[in-house]
Amino acid sequence: MSLDAKKSLGQNFLKSEKAIRSMIESPDISHDDIVVEIGPGKGALTKPLLETGATVVAFELDKRMVEYLHETFGEYVMSGKLILVHQDVLEADISAYTSGQPYKVVANIPYYITNLIIRTFLSNGHQPTSMCLLIQKEVAERIVSRNGKESILSLSVQLYGIPRFIMKVDRRYFSPKPKVDSAVIIIDAINRDDIVDVDFENKFFEIIKTAFSQKRKKAIKNLSMLASKSTWENIFEACGIDRDVRAEDVTYTQWLEIVDKYR
Ligand code: SAM
Repeated sequence: MSLDAKKSLGQNFLKSEKAIRSMIESPDISHDDIVVEIGPGKGALTKPLLETGATVVAFELDKRMVEYLHETFGEYVMSGKLILVHQDVLEADISAYTSGQPYKVVANIPYYITNLIIRTFLSNGHQPTSMCLLIQKEVAERIVSRNGKESILSLSVQLYGIPRFIMKVDRRYFSPKPKVDSAVIIIDAINRDDIVDVDFENKFFEIIKTAFSQKRKKAIKNLSMLASKSTWENIFEACGIDRDVRAEDVTYTQWLEIVDKYR
């Protein structure tokens, strides 16, 4: 059977031993872990994950890959250490597949659904404890606010966990070679501790999306779509934040304060 890469499924197979090692070591995978792998492909990450003794639940959309993995890792499938699921991970009942137990996500994910995967797992009723991801380098830099600027993405991730940049992975370490470089990041300490209730979570997203709606404008100017300018000026003043600031220069902790005062 041909295992040629399907562009439509974002298939770029990983060839870097260094990146693979870092994706096992950074989340400290060990034999008592349950790992959810998204898109195992030909098993570049699946194999070293299984070698740690961890239980791996791998969601793969490409039937050819599922069959190939069944043949290659038959013993692990038989022993229950590898659970192969032929399904779109975005539609999967993660809680059922992990029996409601704590789990970690490790994945080289397709570029085209990066944001959706991050959002789906972080806001899931059964969140992972950590996510170690190989993603497009620019997106990784945005998530960890490498240039000192926040974005909707960086703030959304910080609401649930602590993101950290691990390493750059040059495009030549993939087959076929993509047009962009990649990077490994980890989102650690995932929890809902900063979320007081559902209303807080909804307001947080409503406020940051509105504040960033026109990036060049001041945050308060954008936010005046939600409430009067003076309301926001009072809130910003009470939080000790400059009223002329742009949304990208307001820190995560300051946004928490703003949301708390607004609702
Ligand atoms: N893990 C392999 C590696 O590192 O070489 C393959 C990574 S490749 C970038 C992404 C994989 O995700 C492909 O095997 C693709 O078929 C699979 N995939 C794409 N969309 C998916 C989805 N919605 N759910 C599950 N798997 C998906």
